[in-house]
Amino acid sequence: MSEKATGLCEPSGGIPDTKTEGIKSLSDYTLPELSVLIDGLGEKRFRAGQIYGWLHRKNAFSVDEMTDLPKSLREKLPPPCICKIADMQESRIDGTRKYLFELSDKSLIESVYMVYQHGRSVCISSQVGCRMGCAFCASAIGGRERNLTAGEMLSQIYAIERDVGERIGNVVVMGTGEPLDNYENLVRFLRMLTDADGHNLSERSVTVSTSGLADGIRKLATERFAINLALSLHAPNDELRRTLMPVTNRWPLAEVFSALHAYYEATGRRLTFEYSLISGVNDSDKCAEELVKIAKNFQCLVNLIPVNPVRERKFSQPAKLRVQAFQKKLEKYGIHVTIRREMGRDIDGACGQLRKRHLEDGKAVRETAGQEA
Ligand code: SAH
Repeated sequence: MSEKATGLCEPSGGIPDTKTEGIKSLSDYTLPELSVLIDGLGEKRFRAGQIYGWLHRKNAFSVDEMTDLPKSLREKLPPPCICKIADMQESRIDGTRKYLFELSDKSLIESVYMVYQHGRSVCISSQVGCRMGCAFCASAIGGRERNLTAGEMLSQIYAIERDVGERIGNVVVMGTGEPLDNYENLVRFLRMLTDADGHNLSERSVTVSTSGLADGIRKLATERFAINLALSLHAPNDELRRTLMPVTNRWPLAEVFSALHAYYEATGRRLTFEYSLISGVNDSDKCAEELVKIAKNFQCLVNLIPVNPVRERKFSQPAKLRVQAFQKKLEKYGIHVTIRREMGRDIDGACGQLRKRHLEDGKAVRETAGQEA
């Protein structure tokens, strides 16, 4: 059963109320946990390092690929997590690829592969669906189905690396779901992704985007990761933000900003404020002025995103001139601003739209080469 957004976030503010759904497949085990597993199977401990290497450095999709393990051990191991490609759309304009993956329980999740001048980037999902209920977002429509495990988050990256035949240099946790609403699995994922014995991606190449769970931000600060944090701000005051993002009822902006300061103090990483511009809603000069007052207090970048129209929502993008005027207003006060390049305009653009369309169509999974190898 999916949890429909109620318009009010749970009293916990969205920090997990379910117990950690930590380990479901071989891909969810950290190296020390694998050692314990291997020990329990009566095998030599060094096998744990081999298995971990196959999964996280060599992108093995099945235990049968782990050719230096004895067959008797392979037969005892639980299977790794597999993201089957259920659909893939590739943009003819910029090479962006939108993947729809099917997980072992048939859940569908989306990930996006983007090619930038400075490298390849993947945007992954952290939950099946989302319960934050943001008014402009397609992912919120069906509520949250469940949390993803660390292995399921990692497997999105590995499946894409395998499909495109290249290593990914940047990972953003900015797809479907609220990462800080799946805290334990997120942190396990971040540790494994950046683990020198594992996938070994630099912490600085990872960004987590949150709708603003202040307690989760504070907790993340204590983990001492040098990862980048993005706040989906979208409105410069509580009153307007409440109409777009119900999470504001639980965590007013003042509390979120105080948590962001704590995060900056702990990590020294520059923040990004995501601001989706919606015509007639949050794109006025007054909003820009209020946003300046906020941004002045942080080492930050403001990323303006003309809202991606979603079929079920009435919101539309401001005219180009309005977007530019908004940007100029911020820049006039020395704020660093970027306007997000719209990637993959010609494919199901907005977050959660590809999945939604498939759920509606009940489309069958397309097995693709390389997924079952
Ligand atoms: N829950 C996290 C991450 C997932 S959403 C968060 O809120 O940050 C990723 C980003 O896409 C967020 O900034 C979100 O507000 C934005 N987004 C969602 N739907 C959008 C749409 N239709 N147009 C523009 N941005 C959208």
